[in-house]
Amino acid sequence: MTQTPTMVSDASPPPAPSGLSPEALFEKCNALARNLWWSWQPEVINLFRDLDPIRWRQLDHNPIALLSEFTPERLEMRASELVLFSRINHAYRRLKEYMTEAGTWARTHAGVLGSRPVAYFSLEFGVHESVPIYSGGLGVLSGDHIKSASGLGVPLVAIGLFYDQGYFKQHLDMDGYQREEYLDTKVENLPMEPARGRDGKPITITIATRNRPLQAKVWLMRVGRVNLYLLDCDVKENSPEDRELTARLYGGDTRTRIRQELVAGVGGVRALAALGIVPGVFHLNEGHSAFATLEAIRERMKNDGMSFDDALREVAGRTVFTTHTPVPAGHDRFDGGLIEEHLGPLRDELGISFEQLMGLGRVEPQNAQEPFCMTVLALKLSRRANAVSSLHGHVSRRMWAHLWPWRVEEEIPIGHITNGVHVKSWLAWQMQQLYDREFPINWIRRTGEPEVWQAIHGTDPGELWETHNSLKNLLLAFVRRRVSRQCRRRGESDEDVEAARNMLDPNVLTIGFGRRFATYKRADLILADMDRLARMVNHPQRPLQIIFAGKAHPADEPGKQLIKRIANLRHDPRFAGRIAFVEDYEINVCRHLVQGVDVWLNNPRRPQEASGTSGQKAVLNGALNLSILDGWWAEAYDGSNGFAIGDGARHVDQAVTDARDGENLYRTLEEEVIPLYYDRDIDGLPQHWIKRMMNSISSLAWRFSADRMVADYVRNGYLPAAGGLSCQMDFR
Ligand SMILES: *Cc1c(COP(=O)(O)O)cnc(C)c1O
Repeated sequence: MTQTPTMVSDASPPPAPSGLSPEALFEKCNALARNLWWSWQPEVINLFRDLDPIRWRQLDHNPIALLSEFTPERLEMRASELVLFSRINHAYRRLKEYMTEAGTWARTHAGVLGSRPVAYFSLEFGVHESVPIYSGGLGVLSGDHIKSASGLGVPLVAIGLFYDQGYFKQHLDMDGYQREEYLDTKVENLPMEPARGRDGKPITITIATRNRPLQAKVWLMRVGRVNLYLLDCDVKENSPEDRELTARLYGGDTRTRIRQELVAGVGGVRALAALGIVPGVFHLNEGHSAFATLEAIRERMKNDGMSFDDALREVAGRTVFTTHTPVPAGHDRFDGGLIEEHLGPLRDELGISFEQLMGLGRVEPQNAQEPFCMTVLALKLSRRANAVSSLHGHVSRRMWAHLWPWRVEEEIPIGHITNGVHVKSWLAWQMQQLYDREFPINWIRRTGEPEVWQAIHGTDPGELWETHNSLKNLLLAFVRRRVSRQCRRRGESDEDVEAARNMLDPNVLTIGFGRRFATYKRADLILADMDRLARMVNHPQRPLQIIFAGKAHPADEPGKQLIKRIANLRHDPRFAGRIAFVEDYEINVCRHLVQGVDVWLNNPRRPQEASGTSGQKAVLNGALNLSILDGWWAEAYDGSNGFAIGDGARHVDQAVTDARDGENLYRTLEEEVIPLYYDRDIDGLPQHWIKRMMNSISSLAWRFSADRMVADYVRNGYLPAAGGLSCQMDFR
């Protein structure tokens, strides 16, 4: 049925063809925009995009910002032109059903968590590109964790900080050098509202220090069925300096850091109390939020009259701690002065001495030289601790063995739960449609089950290849658009802009490398022998192209030099048009990359990559991993589901290891990856390659899904912790 566009006049508008008033229609769209559930619903994303495709892109895919440009009447007209009414109604109904669904996985598997939810603490959350309160992998993992918890129906609330400038935006200057830009986020364009206590009033929390007290307000952001509470120090009661405290993620010095961690940890627990939420389990995602345990102990002492030791045992029994990095700089350490300044008043209430408090953050409690380490505090105050891959488990047990000197390494109480990714967030819509045709009905609700993914072997290879190639074309168009725009902004010549518009070739084997430019990730490993690389890139029959993206930490000069070197390869005639650097790696750039490349390259110095998750996102979309046997890949690779670089061996001399790994990378490319990709049958299909794509999808997608991960946390972390099993605090 076609619908006549409504005339706009001063008279009261005629009722919309949907039977809804324009205001009611607008309200439905608004409700969809105000729960981040939309961000993993392709139908709702497409709905918002269709309203205004150009503005949608310009506004970072932010539906609230988009809707703010519409009046209800204009929205109604647009919906009428595009016949969107039934799609809006359908989406709205699905959201309502989702929010009230009773038959979730957790209902049958995690019922005992019931009314005492898991409180999940993290200092960053990467839910969607339009909500810039994350920097990289840790944040995206937190985002994926709460999305899966929502989908499985796990009773869980999340706590973090609201950064009104977030992390920096990356631009490269004419020399290819990274420039950082911090933009103020418009709060009114975010799906947040003040969190209210039982009396209906917005909540503020106060934390005493030895100086001025710190105050924070609390925002509520809805991520499906999970409530995410974000603390924000930008309140008028704070000093001007403190109002800036939560402005930037990883922005300040050690003092800023401890204050942020105080607000997230101690403030987070106070916010829950003010909300009337009584958590049954605390999950510390990284040690950053470990002060939460001290506040929880204070609560138990005050409310239940417990002694410090009993309260500590009780809280530790309910705490799950996940450690994320084997790199020493990743563990926050504070000197005694900072600890006393910020935790002194809390320590008074706990009735413990300064030395006792410091002892909780030290490996050797009596060692006055030792600073206070957040990871040590988290390990001492959690009954259950885990690393994020099997290999990282071994490394972490060795790393922290000195906390339990009387135990052999296998008995160090740190297990592992390997990271996974939220399938609906990372799987391309086109690929999902293909799976919808082949996979069991309702498969999208069972992504953590191995059987579901076996169906990929029944897919027509030509169809899988076609779908992959259409996604690859979208990626190449995205890169050309981005890179040419970047050239224009830098003021480069028309010729250079034009060259960028025509770079990359869809018929060429395409490698993606997107990650932080931390030195250990070795973005330059593939540049070790430029002549050899040039031969591969320019091979007349079997060429290669590479797309790089990634930010360096603002203080990481070597990382910035590396970016500069890679970005400037476009001026080298051997690599022009074949090696691209896309600025400002974030969720949107990552999504395009993992959905469109043929090969996802990962070559960190083993064993420094605790897990890595971007390669898991690539798996879902049919890209093949080419990776050092580190992090998740060490347990994932089976010989026929991707490619391994080397055999995991490591030399005591880092330079020797790097040289060997580089040689192995070249050899794997020349002898395995490239020949397999270009080995075509008479229809032009790389049958053996496609078979490997299928092996990758069937063997890896379920195992490295966030649904599997969260189910593991429920079974091995949350449920035992909620049982309140007491803790043998034998390290004190
Ligand atoms: C997934 C993701 C990461 C994490 O990737 P690694 O494999 O751990 O390097 C980092 N940044 C963004 C934007 C991501 O989406």
